[in-house]
Amino acid sequence: MAKSIKTSRTRIEKQLKELWQYVEQVYADEEQLPNTPDFAAIDPEKVSATIQQINQALEKKTVDSKVKQKLNYAQKNWPKNVAKYNEQQKKLGHRQSMSKTDPDATFMRMKEDHMKNGQLKPGYNLQASTNNQFIVHYSLAQTTADTTTLIDHLEGFEKAFEQTPETLTADAGYGSEENYQALEDKDIKAFVKYNYFHKEQKQAKALVDKAPFHPDKLHYNQQTDTYYCPMGQPMNYIGEKQSKTTTGYLQTYHRYQAANCQGCTLRGICHQSKGNRIIERNHKLIAYKKQAKERLLSEQGITHRKRRCWEVEAVFGNIKQNMNYKRCMLRGIDKVETEIGLIAMAHNLNKLFLSRA
Ligand code: SF4
Repeated sequence: MAKSIKTSRTRIEKQLKELWQYVEQVYADEEQLPNTPDFAAIDPEKVSATIQQINQALEKKTVDSKVKQKLNYAQKNWPKNVAKYNEQQKKLGHRQSMSKTDPDATFMRMKEDHMKNGQLKPGYNLQASTNNQFIVHYSLAQTTADTTTLIDHLEGFEKAFEQTPETLTADAGYGSEENYQALEDKDIKAFVKYNYFHKEQKQAKALVDKAPFHPDKLHYNQQTDTYYCPMGQPMNYIGEKQSKTTTGYLQTYHRYQAANCQGCTLRGICHQSKGNRIIERNHKLIAYKKQAKERLLSEQGITHRKRRCWEVEAVFGNIKQNMNYKRCMLRGIDKVETEIGLIAMAHNLNKLFLSRA
């Protein structure tokens, strides 16, 4: 959607430029060429003004009938089309897609249908905090990835309860550098898995190492800030690069390079690059992951992990299976938020009733 809006706007911009090139051709033999319109950052008014300018420039000239037709079409349609694209862009925000039937909803891959097909449907990403299977806070996100929802969800919780939780347990979908840092900044003890946490554990158990050349497997000397490649060759620091996540969070990667890979017998299986091997390491994330691993494997961590399965997952299970609530009835994020609030209340009341029965 984001791409198609951009493409449609670019197409209009391109056609305006082509029409202006036609004007330039018509005026090729004349000294006085009309002023060139501003084609940057087009909006409906600018498009209208440009078409008018082109019409005026061609007023007393012999003009190709196709160009005349195009100008008539442009005058009638392009300003309103650009206004429509701008409005769609505003509604879309940073999202990649939105539904025509509910512009607040984003297309997300839903769980399989009865025919075992993955479904791409408009929806909201529901986040919930629970305590003893009671929903204590929920939020709706318009992004498909859980990673970017944690900070907003947490801020909503803090606003509602005027306090910060002491601990937070979440699954691997939330284990990003940005989230680990936010939790650390708020002094929250995080029991948050990262990608491959489970895979790592399985590998450790089976003593299977399928990626012996992976940067995580290379020896690192913190004092000299040097990695050692599988052949024992030092890989020295050669600089750093920064990248921004979709939320604007800045990550820093340190780069290390082997001095000479030429003639190395492991060359074919070690790396594919033409020159000497370069690795990029995000030390901050590595430290966060190390801390997360220690916590998750601790006695307290194991208790939290076990609890998470019957704590929050059971709540979603109850809502979906027992209450048979699988799709929203309303449209628009505000209305859906209210609808989910009612569902959460129904779940909590039911739970309260059952616990007292
Ligand atoms: S290819 Fe380069 S980085 Fe890889 S093991 Fe050989 S010398 Fe080390």
